[in-house]
Amino acid sequence: MDKQVGFAAPDGCYIDGAWVSSSSGCCFSSINPATGEVLGEIPSLGASETHAAIEAASRALVDWRSRTASERGQFLRLFGDKLGEHCEDLAHLLTIEQGKPLSESRGEVSYAQSFLYWFAEEGLRLYGDVIPSHTKDARLLALKQGVGVCALITPWNFPYAMITRKLGAALAAGCTAIVKPAEQTPLCALALARLGEEAGFPRGVFNVVTGDAATIGGAFMASDVVRKVSFTGSTEVGKLLIAQSAATVKKLSLELGGHAPFIVCEDADVDAAVEGAMISKFRNSGQTCVCANRFYIHESLYDSFAERFGAKIAKLKVGNGLSSDTQLGPLIDMAAVEKSARHVKDAKEKGAKILFGGASADAGKQFFQPTLLGEVDPSMRILQEETFGPVAPLIRFSSYEDVIKQANDTPYGLAAYFYSRDVGRIFSLADGLDYGMVVANSGVSSTACAPFGGVKHSGYGREGSKYGILEYVDIKYLMIGGLASNKDGQ
Ligand code: NAP
Repeated sequence: MDKQVGFAAPDGCYIDGAWVSSSSGCCFSSINPATGEVLGEIPSLGASETHAAIEAASRALVDWRSRTASERGQFLRLFGDKLGEHCEDLAHLLTIEQGKPLSESRGEVSYAQSFLYWFAEEGLRLYGDVIPSHTKDARLLALKQGVGVCALITPWNFPYAMITRKLGAALAAGCTAIVKPAEQTPLCALALARLGEEAGFPRGVFNVVTGDAATIGGAFMASDVVRKVSFTGSTEVGKLLIAQSAATVKKLSLELGGHAPFIVCEDADVDAAVEGAMISKFRNSGQTCVCANRFYIHESLYDSFAERFGAKIAKLKVGNGLSSDTQLGPLIDMAAVEKSARHVKDAKEKGAKILFGGASADAGKQFFQPTLLGEVDPSMRILQEETFGPVAPLIRFSSYEDVIKQANDTPYGLAAYFYSRDVGRIFSLADGLDYGMVVANSGVSSTACAPFGGVKHSGYGREGSKYGILEYVDIKYLMIGGLASNKDGQ
């Protein structure tokens, strides 16, 4: 990849097929969380540029929605190919801007690509219905039509995949879009814009704006032209968007916070459960919304699980994600480090045992040791809040009725995991867990072909799968009456 596509400070944001700088001249820095190095100065756009992006997307809509699904799919496939061609440079950029180890970054590039390919195909299958009519002289149809201009607001933890998971579905459905990435990962979003430009999307079909979230988000929410907002991020901001959407009766999809339980039953394969726990807890240094945050272990195998899990954790290599042996990178900022430290301190003060780690790591100020806590109980904050860091708390349980109750005792409902080899127990836990995604005998479940999303305070709407594209369509009922007066066709 040449420098422009990668991480050189971009020429601006991407609006209406052009690279636009901030009219106020304001910028903010993108910073490498492992080293503190400034990677580039990014334009901080305001309301006027956001309105320009909304207008551009609105103009582009007329042509884009009139194209066939097959044509739109070809653009998406070409875009996906560009991600593949530039995989190494995109992975490098992701690691220096977000911190995750290179191997995980490569995985995210191909995960991001998979949504573009998936929705290129799903667009072809956006069927409507012919409805048996209530009257002889009419035909009734239900058509699926793209909602129009969409605003896509994304977080920093998967800065490519969270964009393509939304953008792929929106564009395939015939919508146009404006992406607002997180402040910590603007370069990744602008690299995608550069590759989209190379893929040849018509101008205005997709736009990327960076800058103050409240200003840009406020402009999206107040606009009657923006008909849909898809948001991935914190529950707190999600609730604010729900309130703001009332004024324009906007369609919303919300992928919000999680607080995933991970239950190890007495009949589990303990080694497999430990492997699953490692992936589920420590991927992206614990900074995924589906990370296991609470480990409920049956009392009969609590000690052996703790020992084996602890031994694996002790071997994790913490460091700069660019080093080939690194398994755990930095946390995104100091607030994240402080939250992990706060959860450990609170648990320790209330009687938990630190089985491994528990403090900042030597690799740098934004690194936290992978940590295992034993004898954790519900009075501790770590069982009440999402940690979003590499801390694993263990809780003993003896009754399945009680563990389901504890697992559900949270406002969140995104992902839940359990390990069991008993078919009856698998179904009873799957039925009892109040979550949008329930995963048995695996620590990772995300894929383009399965529906991703939560219930309760984890949000609503689904991404990926055949359901994801439905978030970007309206159902239009078409009735054709007066057909009986056409006597020729009797
Ligand atoms: P966040 O603060 O809510 O930020 C997410 C996005 O919203 C960023 O682009 C942010 O912009 C923007 N934003 C912030 N305030 C806004 C406002 N007033 N109006 C419009 N947009 C606004 O979340 P985060 O702390 O970065 O991300 C971590 C959270 O995301 C965790 O709770 C995690 O569980 C959740 N998450 C959920 C999923 C899922 O699929 N369910 C996936 C990943 C992450 P700025 O960065 O510029 O402030």
